[in-house]
Amino acid sequence: MIQEKGTISINTENIFPIIKKFLYSDHEIFLRELVSNAVDATQKMKRLSSLGHYNKELGNLNIKVSVGKDAKTITISDSGIGMTAEEIKKYINQVAFSGATEFMEKFKEANDAKEIIGRFGLGFYSAFMVSDKVEIQTLSYQDGAAPARWTCDGSTEFEITEGNRTERGTDVILYINDDSTEFLEQHRIQGILDKYAKFLPVPVQFGTKSESVEDGTDDEGKPKYKSIEVDNIINNTNPIWTKSPSELKDEDYLNFYQELYPFQEEPLFWIHLNVDYPFNLTGVLYFPKLKNDYEIQKNKIKLFSRQVFITDEVKDIVPEFLLLLHGVIDSPDIPLNVSRSFLQSDSNVKKINSYISRKVAEKLQELFNKDRKSYQGKWNDIGIFVKYGALSDEKFYEKAKDFLLLTNTENEFFTLQEYEAKVKDFQTDKNGQLILLYTADAERQHSYIAAAKKKNYDVLLMNSPIDTHFIQHLEMKLEKTSLKRVDADIVDKLIEKDNKELPKLDAEQTEKLKTIFEKAIANPSMKVEIENLSADGLPVMITMEEWMRRMKDMSKLGGGMNFYGAMPDTYKVSINGNHPLINKILSASEEQQTAFAKQSFDLALLAQGMLKGADLTAFVERSVTAMQE
Ligand code: ADP
Repeated sequence: MIQEKGTISINTENIFPIIKKFLYSDHEIFLRELVSNAVDATQKMKRLSSLGHYNKELGNLNIKVSVGKDAKTITISDSGIGMTAEEIKKYINQVAFSGATEFMEKFKEANDAKEIIGRFGLGFYSAFMVSDKVEIQTLSYQDGAAPARWTCDGSTEFEITEGNRTERGTDVILYINDDSTEFLEQHRIQGILDKYAKFLPVPVQFGTKSESVEDGTDDEGKPKYKSIEVDNIINNTNPIWTKSPSELKDEDYLNFYQELYPFQEEPLFWIHLNVDYPFNLTGVLYFPKLKNDYEIQKNKIKLFSRQVFITDEVKDIVPEFLLLLHGVIDSPDIPLNVSRSFLQSDSNVKKINSYISRKVAEKLQELFNKDRKSYQGKWNDIGIFVKYGALSDEKFYEKAKDFLLLTNTENEFFTLQEYEAKVKDFQTDKNGQLILLYTADAERQHSYIAAAKKKNYDVLLMNSPIDTHFIQHLEMKLEKTSLKRVDADIVDKLIEKDNKELPKLDAEQTEKLKTIFEKAIANPSMKVEIENLSADGLPVMITMEEWMRRMKDMSKLGGGMNFYGAMPDTYKVSINGNHPLINKILSASEEQQTAFAKQSFDLALLAQGMLKGADLTAFVERSVTAMQE
């Protein structure tokens, strides 16, 4: 018997086609919305009971999702508070539909469908994205309530009749439309539940699984086993982020990490987040061991709202430099249907962002203070976060100064302060500027490093992709300090001191020497310069000015300075006028002059790792011939 037929009071008939169109890419969220409603109804029931407003047995509160393949239905059942016919009218017809009406008015202005569903409470109505018809069978927990049934075919017409539920709670039955039959596949539903419902606070049952149980004993008295079908609960209702850190051991954190990311290497350490003012947030963030494929590792942090999974795109909530972290964040202050524009403008989100950044800084400081050796051992992985953080977040840099480490070619670690103290005696130039030397490749730049060490200079190792930027940052932050790569100039000029070598050559000899080398090298991008250097150095050194190399490095990283990237490499070829070999060249025959110049230039190229291809082959052949002569 039909108790009531009616028309839902919105003026537009075609709301569902529009909703469907707008939500097209996110059809699967219907299940998240309906299961979340079931969770809410169940938790309300528990609360009523604990407050003494309900005195009967609560019974089994599991939520059940089932697929009727033949009937083409999906049913979401709960034992929550249920609804009376009056409540259906109020909450489903009016609340949800008034949301829909408002949606209709606003959807034209909005540019993000997700933003709209979240704001207008279209949760329940997302069911129509995949259904021709939706049916509710429900029985309210209230004394004397009658079961009610509601159906709607996606038009604005609904029908309320007597229902058939005999136990408290609600079934939402979706009659899946022809475009959405994928959702009738077991594995598809399993996949959606694994994604959104894995940590819901109420057990969610989907399908069955077999379990082996004891079944008496055999003749020898040993226990026998049999296999039985049991309900398959898909979720862990008490994930560790809902617990207090004091209840948890390292093992719990590591096990949870395995649960989130099966087969991943153990994380380095973790941070348990827990705030309730001025916003609510809990979570656990893990520092992974970094691999080189940074991109692939991004988007590993999962965002939840009251244990309902929302997204793993947490760009706006987590500071950018921490996007490589793993773990979970749960905040009820973030609505289920978050959109980028919402996140970017929300002031809570900004606070969450700086809270996380502060927590990470505190944790790193603590690790550094507690066990510096182990911290240094992890620096390879931590360093990239810390440097990136220092670059992108001023407040973080202020904290990180004290636990940011520099490494040198001897594999020693220093804080900024320690390093300054170590090198200032030898590496302060005649103008009082402190010059820090670094190498990007200790193997390739070995001859330059060796020359620097001869002078009691220390050489830092700056070989990660982020270091190009980090070097600039350090220069900006440290007073009267600049950084130079060891091959930026000949060692005497890297750090300029007052004691200049006296020139041995006169003007005429200098000019002649220059001509000899220019002719032998015959390459316009190699600028020959005759310099007065210490006699025990190398006769020829090839260097590229610090600023030019940096610009080139930047443009390689896509720093927008393509002008420099397109410029040909220009090097300086320093001829050491004081080297004993020079006299030999000047007094040799013209033919030999060119040969000596060429050979010493090639040796310099070789030291820089720049001698390649045909030039290298010719060099080897020439050297062999020279030995034979
Ligand atoms: P929201 O959940 O954001 O309030 P919905 O459109 O999803 O919006 O649901 C509208 C209302 O319908 C809910 O607030 C709730 O009162 C009621 N409702 C939906 N599903 C259930 C359910 N399984 N059990 C009891 N009440 C429900």
